[in-house]
Amino acid sequence: MKGGKFIDTADAFNPSNMAPHGGLVYMALDASRARYIALLDNASKITLKDFESWWNDPVFVDKNGQKLTRQNLVLIAANQAGGAHVDPAIDSRYAKLDTSLGHHAFIDNVKQELGNPSRAAIRQIAHEVLKTLDPTYSKKPNHGPALIMGQISLTVGSPASRAANQQSTLRVGRNALCPCGSGIKYKKCHGRPF
Ligand SMILES: [Zn+2]
Repeated sequence: MKGGKFIDTADAFNPSNMAPHGGLVYMALDASRARYIALLDNASKITLKDFESWWNDPVFVDKNGQKLTRQNLVLIAANQAGGAHVDPAIDSRYAKLDTSLGHHAFIDNVKQELGNPSRAAIRQIAHEVLKTLDPTYSKKPNHGPALIMGQISLTVGSPASRAANQQSTLRVGRNALCPCGSGIKYKKCHGRPF
């Protein structure tokens, strides 16, 4: 199928965005934790792409400007299971995804690590392949009341603010207003138990 079109649900990388880029993953914040998730069919974007650009366009660009493609993610995951390695530089970028996107969340001042986004990204890639093979395939996950956040875009600023913006931190308090703008306390809105 390499001559055909593949389903692409990733937010395109914008080189003028100074924030780290994770085109296939979203962040979910609920009553007790923050994590990366795959939105599957809840992703807002669906287009078609030639295989070559689908496979080779960056889907992660970390805070140091290091890029990873779908090809990198899939081959690294596949080769790790078999014990082989693709390229030490790319392996290192993959391992650093734990921290290199710079996302943090604090719930009631307790730091929540989001972990490595690669599994969520690979889940979304698998979803794209399934939809490419079978256009009737559909799957929508239920993340409960969690607050779902996508790309953070920072396109204005001086070099000083670029350094400051490399950490994206979200702070919520259970008794503070929910960041979704509902005007309701977080614990009664997106932070309610699921
Ligand atoms: Zn809310």
